[in-house]
Amino acid sequence: MIHKHAAKRLHYDLRLEVEGVLKSWSVPRGPSSNPADWRLAVQVEDHPLDYQDFEGVIPEGQYGAGQVIVWDRGTYRNITDDPSHPAPMSQALADGKVEVLFEGTKMKGGYALIRMQSQRRDPSNWLLIKLKDEYVGSLPEDLEEQGQSVVTGRALQDLRGSPRRRP
Ligand code: MN
Repeated sequence: MIHKHAAKRLHYDLRLEVEGVLKSWSVPRGPSSNPADWRLAVQVEDHPLDYQDFEGVIPEGQYGAGQVIVWDRGTYRNITDDPSHPAPMSQALADGKVEVLFEGTKMKGGYALIRMQSQRRDPSNWLLIKLKDEYVGSLPEDLEEQGQSVVTGRALQDLRGSPRRRP
């Protein structure tokens, strides 16, 4: 699943269920369906499974304060190395090379997550890359065209101000 999150900086949080947790990457520009358009994906801490259902506003003063919507959700299949005999996800993650087939509402087809190798760089830096298949071009270049929650149909701005309490 993918959260769209208006923290200090707008970003998308890609979360894959692996062995009972949500492996998570913060993707500043969001996913692309153009194989030539590599997107930085910064791995962040694992999240508990039930966080995938969160949609709402993280209050001021808390980490990540701002609106969050469920931008996409669905299933994925691990195809790392070989679709019929994939390396286990835990192994693929440790190796820094993961290939998955998404079957989401918005995200479709194959994507690779590749950890950047340069030792001078932060080891949490990965690249999210569309694999070449029939779903190339399936996302709009401007993701705002598909900016709504797949659960509630709300956009981020529909949540603005909602936690404020009035006397
Ligand atoms: Mn986030």
